[in-house]
Amino acid sequence: MNTVATESNPNLQRARNRLIQSLIDQGITNERVLEALRVVPRHLFIEPALQYRAYEDATLPIGQSQTISQPYIVALMTQALFASSRVQTILEVGTGCGYQTAVLGALVKRVYTVERIRSLQESAEARLRDIGYRNIEYRHGDGFVGWKDRAPYDGIIITAAATEIPKMLLEQLAIGGRMVLPLEEKNGDQYLRVIRKTGKDLVEENLLPVRFVPLLRGVQA
Ligand code: SAH
Repeated sequence: MNTVATESNPNLQRARNRLIQSLIDQGITNERVLEALRVVPRHLFIEPALQYRAYEDATLPIGQSQTISQPYIVALMTQALFASSRVQTILEVGTGCGYQTAVLGALVKRVYTVERIRSLQESAEARLRDIGYRNIEYRHGDGFVGWKDRAPYDGIIITAAATEIPKMLLEQLAIGGRMVLPLEEKNGDQYLRVIRKTGKDLVEENLLPVRFVPLLRGVQA
């Protein structure tokens, strides 16, 4: 665990501990993942007017019509990534406010994160640097094509719903690695999909129905 900061406010730590208990009650079992969510200060990723809701297990708006993911979904996706044996590098598509990025940053050697909306990319980078993360690389770009220079990645996580599995991302996934993404079907339903790359083959599994903002192409200045 890359410890970033210990919480000095006992009320916030209590709220976070309650959230962790609810994640355990919902079936999250990976101790390292639970510990990462226990240390990341989610209230710092949310605008002041909504901070009192930071430790509810809920999705909240972050501006630009985007959202911060629900803690249970962040925990579930992270746990799915870490089912592989040795995970040191992760590519995240959809930095948003940077909350999922922070959880990953607490767990691995290096996180590479891409966001297509410039204002979100810049504020997430400033926030994560302020909190103390030094093992994250940021990029304003279209994550649909990945980040080839830094590939291969032990894990890839997409935090916006794709209508097809991005081929270039699969190519950038290391053998033995896992990719986790919300995948939207033709009828509009979305499922969390886990893809394991075992050499030439892919082993795929749907975890549960979800609701994410769409994965869009191109960048927004
Ligand atoms: N990871 C965030 C959730 C972000 S919401 C969390 O921890 O709460 C999804 C984000 O994906 C949005 O910020 C959206 O702008 C971004 N996004 C959508 N399509 C993208 C693309 N092609 N490349 C990079 N980012 C994208």
